[in-house]
Amino acid sequence: MPSPELPAIDGLLREQPLARFTAARLGGPADYLYVAREPDYEDTIALLEEAWRRDLPVTVIGGGANVLVADAGIRGLTIINRATDIQRESIGDAVLLQASSGANLIRLARFCQENELSGMEWAIAVPGTLGGAAVNNAGAHGSDIASSLTRLLVYEAEGGKRWCDVNTLQYAYRYSRLKHRRDRRFFVMRAELKLQRDDAARIQARMDHNNEYRRTTQPPGASLGSIFKNPPGDYAGRLIEAAGLKGKRLGAVQVSPLHANFFVNLSVDASASDYFELIQLVRAGVKERFGVALELEIQTLGEWQ
Ligand SMILES: Cc1cc2nc3c(=O)[nH]c(=O)nc-3n(C[C@H](O)[C@H](O)[C@H](O)COP(=O)(O)OP(=O)(O)OC[C@H]3O[C@@H](n4cnc5c(N)ncnc54)[C@H](O)[C@@H]3O)c2cc1C
Repeated sequence: MPSPELPAIDGLLREQPLARFTAARLGGPADYLYVAREPDYEDTIALLEEAWRRDLPVTVIGGGANVLVADAGIRGLTIINRATDIQRESIGDAVLLQASSGANLIRLARFCQENELSGMEWAIAVPGTLGGAAVNNAGAHGSDIASSLTRLLVYEAEGGKRWCDVNTLQYAYRYSRLKHRRDRRFFVMRAELKLQRDDAARIQARMDHNNEYRRTTQPPGASLGSIFKNPPGDYAGRLIEAAGLKGKRLGAVQVSPLHANFFVNLSVDASASDYFELIQLVRAGVKERFGVALELEIQTLGEWQ
């Protein structure tokens, strides 16, 4: 059956390659692509409503820093989220900050430092958007987004717009109720964070420390960060290395010789299917050697054979 069509709308593009919208620089075309830039998401919501009404699949990509998009691409409508506004409001010693879900996480961390707000130091080198971080519960250096979040403004196909309190989102290690929601008929519009006042120099010192740690332990280049979650009491990277798979290469994708839980795309010829096959191979190797079934931290999107 042919997939439903969307009407011609300003900014709605057809057959657009997605590789440039993902951190791994991989992935085939989106049938329809729309880049959201308006802080109120008025046009984006109208388009989402249109797609949902026609039962067209909808995929949201923030920074594409945690998703592996199939070589065959993504059917239906793909929204790339680039709205960036950030607003602050004081309440005693704490400060509430609200931002569009499309706000870049590293820019947000810098904004916090410049405004003498502590709580986002962990994010200074974590790519992606606030929306992606809120869905994934991104975190590092002993903290995560759930530690600062108070609520999310979510638009749902059934029910429209509403604020969801952080306590209703079931946050855990790299997990939220939204991350594995099967229907995917929702869009995170805004997030509210509660931050503490602190001295800008002290915040900067913590950020410098985090940046330095990353620079020495994680590879540069096109990757998706950690591929697997750390199993309880251990590290995925340690297990992969101990299984003799550090540096393993498939096509133009390699298990990083610097950090075995990072898989790096080495060239423009790399394919998402090689990336995925290497993930399977590493998972099987670790299972065979240690009996540990590594769980994916990244998500696969689109049409896989
Ligand atoms: C070099 C590198 C280092 C990394 N280091 C870390 C780290 O230290 N800690 C960590 O936790 N992660 C890390 N990551 C992974 C990644 O940065 C985080 O998972 C980040 O939060 C993903 O955000 P994103 O906007 O790119 O989300 P995407 O990858 O675009 O999307 C992730 C998921 O969220 C959904 N989504 C995104 N935005 C919305 C929205 N507005 N509404 C509804 N659904 C949405 C997507 O559909 C998808 O399911 C790293 C990645 C790289 C490339």
